[in-house]
Amino acid sequence: MRSWFQFFATILTLSALVSPATGQTMAFQNVSWSPRLLATGSPALFKVEVQGSPSALHGQWMGHEIVFFPDGPHVWYGLAGIDVEAKPGNYKLELAATLPDGKLVHEERAVIVEPAKYKTETLRVPDRFVQPDAETLRRIDSDKQIKKTAFAHEIAEPEWSGKFVAPIDSSVSEGFGTRRTFNGKLASIHRGLDYHAKPGSPVTAANSGQVVLARELFYEGNCVIIDHGQQFMTLYMHLSKLEVSEGERVEKGQQVGLSGATGRATGPHLHLAVRWQGAYLDPAQLLALPLPNLPPAVSSKRGAP
Ligand SMILES: [Zn+2]
Repeated sequence: MRSWFQFFATILTLSALVSPATGQTMAFQNVSWSPRLLATGSPALFKVEVQGSPSALHGQWMGHEIVFFPDGPHVWYGLAGIDVEAKPGNYKLELAATLPDGKLVHEERAVIVEPAKYKTETLRVPDRFVQPDAETLRRIDSDKQIKKTAFAHEIAEPEWSGKFVAPIDSSVSEGFGTRRTFNGKLASIHRGLDYHAKPGSPVTAANSGQVVLARELFYEGNCVIIDHGQQFMTLYMHLSKLEVSEGERVEKGQQVGLSGATGRATGPHLHLAVRWQGAYLDPAQLLALPLPNLPPAVSSKRGAP
């Protein structure tokens, strides 16, 4: 079954349209993605090669909108992902290219999402993190609103360029996706990647973007959230010190704070999370994903007020 769809994903498509207004021919030539095998929790870079020069390319997939950006006249990229709790299965990728005269050309591809296996573990944290009192519950609720606002931030163009880089010079202490039990009561999924981090270690931006949150939260502790464009965000938690402000633009590798053990942490470490339109993705897979450098046409729009 899988090979059938892999075959489908790489064959040339037959769809073509000649616009009467411009006389321009438009055809989807190839649709591919990396990593090649997509599973729950994977980031996904879609690459669409077209014949002709559409003015825009949009995709719909798993209930999300994917905005593609051009890298040269005939290659378009869209960065997306699959939530760790998504149901594995066959999801249709619907593409719509807009021709210069406004006409739309459609294309569909079947994309298989495989199940991923994550481990289970049991942890102990102070009881207040498991059974919060009334005041703490109000704090958690107010944090929720603050995060909701940050997550709703919108940047139309991608601000990232090239590969995402590790935010700390250290080793991983806990992988993504582990199903956790806190004090034998509260079950949750580890929606990030933990690094060993001595308190006060420099933490840097995994890619360029805009800081949409930089403050102390109950669970996350001192937290920085960077929007890399199109709601593709990275989150840095449990920091001892914040060194950027909300609204600030940061470059890849720029220091955003120092590591610590603030919030719900069993000890000093850095928790890195990757979020795309509400879906939590495996940071380790994102760091391993080869990504294109942004063409000047896209990066020149940066820095606009
Ligand atoms: Zn963590």
